[in-house]
Amino acid sequence: MAPTVVTGAASGIGAATCAALREQGREPLTVDLHDADINADLGTPEGRQHAVDAVLARSGGVLDGLALCAGLGPHVPDPARIVSVNYFGTVAVLDGLLPALREGEQPAAVVVSSVSSTHVAWDTNPIATAVESGDEPAARAAVAAGGEYRGQLAYAASKNALTVATRRRVAEWGAAGVRLNTVAPGSVDTPLLRAGMDDPRYGQAIREFVAPVARHGTPAEIAAAILYLLGGNAGFVHGAQLVVDGGVDALFRPTTF
Ligand code: NAD
Repeated sequence: MAPTVVTGAASGIGAATCAALREQGREPLTVDLHDADINADLGTPEGRQHAVDAVLARSGGVLDGLALCAGLGPHVPDPARIVSVNYFGTVAVLDGLLPALREGEQPAAVVVSSVSSTHVAWDTNPIATAVESGDEPAARAAVAAGGEYRGQLAYAASKNALTVATRRRVAEWGAAGVRLNTVAPGSVDTPLLRAGMDDPRYGQAIREFVAPVARHGTPAEIAAAILYLLGGNAGFVHGAQLVVDGGVDALFRPTTF
């Protein structure tokens, strides 16, 4: 069995995804800033290239799965880096590893987006034009000018663009025989969420907001959704966004889906 690559594997949802794969007897090939098989900074073009090259070298150019979990939350001080990691880092690894996934057995990829992907519309997404032309400096500049809540703007814009980028790839990836889907978590108890709860700008809103199921999700619950989408039981699921948010999206957007 060829490996499944997991980015963001050192913490939270990525670590839970690795644990879930191991429970199924599948050893993940891990990527993160630190404590991974491949240490790489997906926030830079060089780091992304290193990650892709190292995965191809270690896997022999054959992968059965890919789970793209690496990401930064809205609390991160530099909004431009949020866009670079969450959008450009994820898309570069996705595209860079398609040739290896094509060689795999029942291959599939899952991109971890967010319910925040719906908080900005594509028509008004401030990075839409820049990401369409692959212009990372322009996308970074667009969020840097975003005002006090530019972290949240950068986060929502990058996740919206990520879901759009995934959906735009369904024809090419379907023809290549590789299924591709997103998971959109709500609030999940990880270091990323806890850092947001400690943030003076967003903390109170995050702490006081209660999802319809009246708790935060666990990393294992998101990992279970990722494993489902990677597996054979999801054989006809392609181009979907699986919302795993305790009912938040349905609460706020009951007529939009
Ligand atoms: P986390 O902080 O626990 O884990 C994120 C991992 O990504 C870390 O191990 C970190 O080192 C890695 N990472 C960050 N920047 C990187 C870079 N430049 N290069 C390589 N690796 C990098 O966070 P999490 O909550 O597990 O988040 C995982 C994904 O889930 C993220 O994409 C996040 O946006 C998304 N998400 C999380 C929540 C939530 O409430 N926790 C909600 C919606 C979506």
